[in-house]
Amino acid sequence: MTSMQSGTNTATMAGSSGEKRPASDNSPRYIVDKAVAPGLTQEVAPGVHWLRMPLPFPALDHINLWLLDEGDDFVIVDTGMGDDQTKAIWNQIFSGPMAGRHANRVICTHYHNDHAGLVGWLTERFNVELWMSQGEFYASHSVYSEVASHQPSRMYDMYRVNGLSDTILEQMLERRNSYRVNVRHFPPSFRRLLDGDTVRVGGNDWKIIAGYGHSPEHSALYCEELGVLIAGDMVLPRITTNVSVQATEPNGNPLDLWFRSLERHAQLPPETLVLPSHGLPFRGLRDRLAFIRKHHEERLEELVAFCSTPKTTAQVLPTLFHRELDVHQTGIAMGEALAHLHYLMYEGRLRREVDREGFIRFVAA
Ligand SMILES: [Zn+2]
Repeated sequence: MTSMQSGTNTATMAGSSGEKRPASDNSPRYIVDKAVAPGLTQEVAPGVHWLRMPLPFPALDHINLWLLDEGDDFVIVDTGMGDDQTKAIWNQIFSGPMAGRHANRVICTHYHNDHAGLVGWLTERFNVELWMSQGEFYASHSVYSEVASHQPSRMYDMYRVNGLSDTILEQMLERRNSYRVNVRHFPPSFRRLLDGDTVRVGGNDWKIIAGYGHSPEHSALYCEELGVLIAGDMVLPRITTNVSVQATEPNGNPLDLWFRSLERHAQLPPETLVLPSHGLPFRGLRDRLAFIRKHHEERLEELVAFCSTPKTTAQVLPTLFHRELDVHQTGIAMGEALAHLHYLMYEGRLRREVDREGFIRFVAA
């Protein structure tokens, strides 16, 4: 299903042609050659510890989390999925590398369930606050409670008018709200993070950089003293981040928001150490951002060519995704394809046509 329900929609375009490039001088420069083992931590910058949790997805089997030293305490950045396996690994961390120490707050980059699945459990365990942007806090509660236009049926309606077959829609309807399954409970209050805010941790200032297009109000954290960016899902070294139109904003232009957000992250020093939520820590931020931009630009060109005659969004999926998509991936792919089609429409390169039955098609302008 899409991010609205599962919350885990980091990357769907990983298998598309743009990622299959040979290694070049512009490739991410990893600072390690293998990942930290589950249950252990690895210091990747002074006072910045890396840990890793499993994810139950064939295409994405892990998430990176971070612990920041603050005297005898530490700060948790992102939590992993809300499942028993992840809790067990956290318990290993607390009785192992972090034994005798206390978390004094939980910072969350965004509401998706692989990042926020255990914020309720962790904030209660240490009796501390959740720090998060307002957009993400409200999104979590809205998706969890299926309020207003966060109801799954709204999303299926959006897919239907964009050409998805009833057979696939029926399979989607059989699925549960996996956000509720994987998050379980979410704190009723939070400390608000805003773009440009500085969060002081252990003698270092971490600046919040808001990012848009992947989630409502993503917070990356940048520490100038350390030259470190905790990137969340804004910059990933190996896969591209999902950017989708959501049923809450069916005429939205999230790819434009995404591009503008990438430009802001590209203003950081080129030698910044990037700590991504998926993949290995790396340097080469600007080259990676330029590659991501180019990847989307190539998809946009392919779409313009393909839409020489009117096409529904469902019809363009094989152009964007060169592989079989299961039901879950199809939902994400629809959102992502719509994001690209809307971008082209707002650029004036495609036109949107709505037929008498309400079905939407895009055609070269
Ligand atoms: Zn995400």
